Amino acid sequence: MASDMQRKAFYEQLANGLDGLREQGLYKPERVIASRQGAEVVCDDGRKLINLCANNYLGLSGDEAMVRAAVEATEKYGYGLSSVRFICGTQTVHKELEHALSDFLGTEDTILYAAAFDANGGVFEPLFDEQDAIISDALNHASIIDGIRLCKAARYRYQHNDMADLEAQLQAAAGKRHKVIVTDGVFSMDGTIAQLDRICDLADRYGALVMIDECHASGFMGKTGRGTHEHHGVMGRIDIITGTLGKALGGAMGGFTSGRREVIQTLRQKSRPYLFSNSLAPAIAGASLEVLGRLSASTELRDRLHANTAYFRAAISESGFTIKPGTHPVVPVMLFDAPLAQKFAQRLYELGVLVTGFFYPVVPMGQARVRVQLSAAHTREQLDKALAAFRQAGQELGLLNN
Ligand SMILES: *Cc1c(COP(=O)(O)O)cnc(C)c1O
Repeated sequence: MASDMQRKAFYEQLANGLDGLREQGLYKPERVIASRQGAEVVCDDGRKLINLCANNYLGLSGDEAMVRAAVEATEKYGYGLSSVRFICGTQTVHKELEHALSDFLGTEDTILYAAAFDANGGVFEPLFDEQDAIISDALNHASIIDGIRLCKAARYRYQHNDMADLEAQLQAAAGKRHKVIVTDGVFSMDGTIAQLDRICDLADRYGALVMIDECHASGFMGKTGRGTHEHHGVMGRIDIITGTLGKALGGAMGGFTSGRREVIQTLRQKSRPYLFSNSLAPAIAGASLEVLGRLSASTELRDRLHANTAYFRAAISESGFTIKPGTHPVVPVMLFDAPLAQKFAQRLYELGVLVTGFFYPVVPMGQARVRVQLSAAHTREQLDKALAAFRQAGQELGLLNN
């Protein structure tokens, strides 16, 4: 038991830290939504907003068929398992989802986790040790970085998306037993798509494995939405795929790792977030099966998402905003200056558009932005209303190039 003095010092230190964040403008407030997630949301202040900042790429988060599928799975399989998978937490719905994900991704087997954060946190340590090398893109997601930290393999970092540096790091790792290149399939801050064709070629040349994190790709990248590996024509050349059920694939929560049978079986035996954390709720497993069925039957949602993305990207550029070029539904609208990005997001909120300002340390210094994320659920009318609000706020703040 800490003495009163010690306890007081502890809480004071936390309070000072929080004050410091507020003073530096780095404190992250949370908007409270009182409705379902969707193309439009209602906040707790009663304001109705067009939502341009969810990872709701296919518009399924608040979708009626998803809610029904979740209810049906709950009625059939119950509310929860009160168990990890290997004790008594595996139901037929979990096995069906693992098979459906493997079919969708073009892999042999899949293991479910409570989150992609856990999938990445638990993938490296069981598969690689001090004799091996992990070669990781400098801008990979925090959960990859944490997962690598938990593993004893030698670490090599290559400059973001820099194939010459990746090659140099592969050469530096030459003496190692197994080498694995790890990259986000799509990088969420810029919408940058990893050059998987070139990465797979380098992997072949240097005898390395390839792992991709498909959180911002599964369900809509590639012709039939399988992911970045389909987009780049390298299906079958990727060794390990991690991804989330919490973004395009329904938006609730849950993650997975997919790949060769030997990899997945090893993870079931040794991956700590799988062995020591509860089974995915049956509602999520059942509703995720509904998503994969829908995506396998039709590319309509994926096609609508890409049409909305092309429309918004063209219109926002024509309006005189600076965006990062690309094709992904993540559209970074560049403000460069952090306070300006916050002011712009606040003005858009007043004008009925929900976006969030991103600034250092989430993005590099001087690269502050508002990140727009398109959804298949957005109607043209909603996008036009949002674009009008962008133009008005942009004019008021003097942001437009023309
Ligand atoms: C969102 C995200 C994660 C975490 O996914 P959760 O399922 O929410 O834990 C991991 N990696 C990347 C690249 C992400 O964008």
